[in-house]
Amino acid sequence: MFEYAPAPESRDIVDLRSSYGLFINGEFVEGSGASFKTVNPATEETLAEVATATSDDVDRAVQAARKAFGVWSALPGSERAKYLFRIARLIQERARELAVLESLDNGKPIRESRDVDLPLVAAHFFYYAGWADKLQYAGFGRRTADGQGGAKPLGVAGQVIPWNFPLLMLAWKIAPALACGNTVVLKPAETTPLTALLFAEICRQADLPPGVVNIVTGAGETGAAVVAHPDVNKVAFTGSTEVGRIIARSVAGTGKKLTLELGGKAANIVFDDAAIDQAVEGIVNGIFFNQGHVCCAGSRLLVQESIQEELLAALKRRLGTLRLGDPLDKNTDIGAINSAEQLAKIRQLSDLGESEGAERWSPACELPGKGFWFPPTLFTGVAQSHSIAREEIFGPVLSVLTFRTPAEAVEKANNTPYGLSAGVWTEKGSRILWMADRLRAGVVWANTFNKFDPASPFGGYKESGYGREGGLAGLEAYLDV
Ligand code: NAD
Repeated sequence: MFEYAPAPESRDIVDLRSSYGLFINGEFVEGSGASFKTVNPATEETLAEVATATSDDVDRAVQAARKAFGVWSALPGSERAKYLFRIARLIQERARELAVLESLDNGKPIRESRDVDLPLVAAHFFYYAGWADKLQYAGFGRRTADGQGGAKPLGVAGQVIPWNFPLLMLAWKIAPALACGNTVVLKPAETTPLTALLFAEICRQADLPPGVVNIVTGAGETGAAVVAHPDVNKVAFTGSTEVGRIIARSVAGTGKKLTLELGGKAANIVFDDAAIDQAVEGIVNGIFFNQGHVCCAGSRLLVQESIQEELLAALKRRLGTLRLGDPLDKNTDIGAINSAEQLAKIRQLSDLGESEGAERWSPACELPGKGFWFPPTLFTGVAQSHSIAREEIFGPVLSVLTFRTPAEAVEKANNTPYGLSAGVWTEKGSRILWMADRLRAGVVWANTFNKFDPASPFGGYKESGYGREGGLAGLEAYLDV
């Protein structure tokens, strides 16, 4: 008889080295800066020493990418597609290894890295592989003799990504850039560099021409060196609004093309006619998926006043069933907070919420003695002026506000400098469309939340950034049309 064994996913599947270099021109090389440690946030154990790329190293990487650009951009799109399909298949073949490594370095539950992140990573490479020889049909200029669109790749793309979806953010950046004929220098976040380095190994396995993809590790200074390099033609950044501003200033006047995917403070709006159980699942997924380390997290629950009591009771019951603990355990719902710094920020903003007068609630939940942990947390009695209703907490903390009419829901949802996403829960189709028209957010989900598809553009309004990733719009970001 088949028995379900909820054993932890084995970390032995990962061939963890004690130290990692930079990936430049198809080779792993030493960095010139002092190496840094990347730790497992669930245990605080050091996973590996990782090289820091100085501006000289970044220069070598950009030069390699520049040289490779000549070769890569001259390939027929159908040839570039073959490489991208090969990478996509290798990601599928090595998915378990990548998923375990992602959970070790990031702290996210294996169920999420295995069932959400990795399938989406492969899907993005498959999706953009499919476009590489069809750019002319995407409306990007006429067909030319070599079968490519009239639109031109931009050149070398400098890409800087955050730690919340290390491999998925890499896929969002690298797949469309390569499909369009650009070459890449990518800098992963300093707390989660390992899957990007395993991806570099996959590029080698796929025989990708040297220099097409370069990975430089390090902290903000390395990212700044990538952004500032004069031979970088396109900058793509995902991260905080604060760093996005610095980058926008640094790129201003240089002629570099820029896309920014920044923070969010999304409203998840539940009307009195919504299917309550379904909405509860959507609220939980909206804010507790990936410990709330999600730019489009539904961090503000707007609930119609008449169902507030019923909904909150159901939500609290559901939160009581969430399991927090070992990210490698397949039954874990809530993993570790990615870093001590992030944990301190979540604590500080939550304490501020309490001192500003909101009521704090968490289910009974034992936190492991080692590592960085924060329980799922709910704040009720939240006013729009409270910090927890305005600032991005980027953790498992939900602020609950109420509304009476659809117009009031729109007004409150839009009362934020951000505009990345929103969710609407109602049985009325006409109300969904009415709301979607009025919500100032790049994505509006209806009766679902945190749903992604490579064919669907993603990106923000207002201080959530500009430019789109995913879909056809994602190609446009890497072409001169
Ligand atoms: P962060 O801005 O601190 O860092 C992001 C990346 O930028 C890291 O790789 C970091 O090393 C690098 N960096 C830091 N300073 C830099 C500088 N001066 N120049 C160039 N690079 C620099 O953000 P984070 O804490 O890693 O990520 C969390 C933030 O990312 C949240 O605000 C979240 O909303 C946002 N985010 C947005 C999206 C989106 O698609 N809109 C997706 C994921 C995360």
